[in-house]
Amino acid sequence: MKKKNLLFVTMTIFTFCLTISSCGDDRFYDEPINDNTSNTQANQNDFVALYEILGDQIIKINDGFDGKNWMHDDVKHQEMWDLIAQLIDAGDRPWITQFMVIDGQGELYGFVEPLNEDLTQWTMGMAIDMAYVNGTLNGDKEYVYTAIHEFAHVLSLNHEQLNPNTTNCNTYNLEEGCAHGNSYINQFFDNFWKDIFNEHRNIDPDDYDAIDAFYEKYDDRFVTDYAATNPAEDIAESFAYFVTKEEKPNGNAIADKKVSFMYDFPEFIDMRDRLRQSTFTLPMAGAWKRPKCKHKKGKRIEMIK
Ligand SMILES: [Zn+2]
Repeated sequence: MKKKNLLFVTMTIFTFCLTISSCGDDRFYDEPINDNTSNTQANQNDFVALYEILGDQIIKINDGFDGKNWMHDDVKHQEMWDLIAQLIDAGDRPWITQFMVIDGQGELYGFVEPLNEDLTQWTMGMAIDMAYVNGTLNGDKEYVYTAIHEFAHVLSLNHEQLNPNTTNCNTYNLEEGCAHGNSYINQFFDNFWKDIFNEHRNIDPDDYDAIDAFYEKYDDRFVTDYAATNPAEDIAESFAYFVTKEEKPNGNAIADKKVSFMYDFPEFIDMRDRLRQSTFTLPMAGAWKRPKCKHKKGKRIEMIK
């Protein structure tokens, strides 16, 4: 039933289908999609409600059929959205056009997913049970952290950063598309991943023990263990660190350099200032729990480990 509901939602809101074969050269291919994963957690994140985003406002598109009764509360949905709208200026998130409330079932924090193949429009999904995990919105600050992390995905994976259509990719090649040479993620990859990527790509993305071992081996390179998942998660974690950490790091560890890398972009510094202007308290850098991520047809899903 849940699967049917999700299929309905999926068919209703988008017809997007990634054609992995179009990525061509997969030298830097990040996590191949396994078609046998249709029954994974990625397909069970229950759909509670879907909203269209218009600036700082949201308008309901439809209700989902899943989730507990208390989750079908438009006031709570509005609170969840208002916090994101307050956190992230509308001008900084032109690509995020839909907001989905999901039942994370104690496992999922949120996800981002392109609405269309050209990567111009994205859905941000946030788990209502995780948002209200301590009874109050953002009670454990994980909600704000997740929003910053998911925002960083869209910031680094949108159509201005990646080309989803090329068949000949000579830069970092992700599930969503081929990174432009001067894109944030390609520069991040060239600076921090090229020397270890061949080792990393041999790791089964579902083998969390192997990812943990990879992190342990290179822990001075990553701001969190979750960042070792892949370059896309690494840049999202590093961006969240950059936003939440009070001072620019001055250490020589590669993890510090990844955060310093963010300061190379004046638009990121301005964005950081705006993100930090929110009236609520930001989480302490690195204090958040450790989610794990599943990818399914371009969807980046954050799960509790
Ligand atoms: Zn992520």
